[in-house]
Amino acid sequence: MNIILLGPPGAGKGTQAKILEEERGLKQLSTGDMLRAEIAAETPLGVEVRQIMDAGGLVSDDIVIRMIATRIDHPDCARGFILDGFPRTVPQAQALDNMLAQKNKNLDAVIQLVVDEAALLVRVQKRAAENPNAVRGDDNEDALKKRLDVYRAQTAPILPYYESKNLLKKIDGMASVEAVTESIREILD
Ligand code: ADP
Repeated sequence: MNIILLGPPGAGKGTQAKILEEERGLKQLSTGDMLRAEIAAETPLGVEVRQIMDAGGLVSDDIVIRMIATRIDHPDCARGFILDGFPRTVPQAQALDNMLAQKNKNLDAVIQLVVDEAALLVRVQKRAAENPNAVRGDDNEDALKKRLDVYRAQTAPILPYYESKNLLKKIDGMASVEAVTESIREILD
């Protein structure tokens, strides 16, 4: 089973992806985590993307498309994957479709976590306060505002794209973690 979790920063995609990994043996593929690992390892790619990410901008489609294309061939994705943070633009969504068609794979569902934007800043601040050693370069108010603007302008347009393919399922991301997990279960079962 291959699914996409969609929603603005702080919507809870990563939390639900971890639960799905454990419950269903799917593999979470988070482009944000992959890019942060490059930054931490100070690779040339990490050096290239660091400033863009810290400012809340998007790295180029080419970079993330290549990262995902190599990653989904890995044996740990054999039972399926959960895309978290990708696709984030319409060109990325189209590239994903081409990539999956070439590999004879398909998408089973695109799950949108619908959240109230006013709550997001509070959630992200809470995450930073609870994990002071893992504070992200982009977990500050300015970068979060930018990430929300980028989400509205570049990522939200992929919602109608998946709606037209009858893949889009919307769920209430403001409910408790358990209730969100239950809504996802109902969609996938
Ligand atoms: P969020 O918590 O906002 O959902 P992520 O951890 O998914 O954030 O991503 C953090 C940053 O990594 C983004 O703001 C962006 O700079 C970069 N990034 C992650 N995924 C992508 C992508 N698919 N396309 C472009 N940039 C990306």
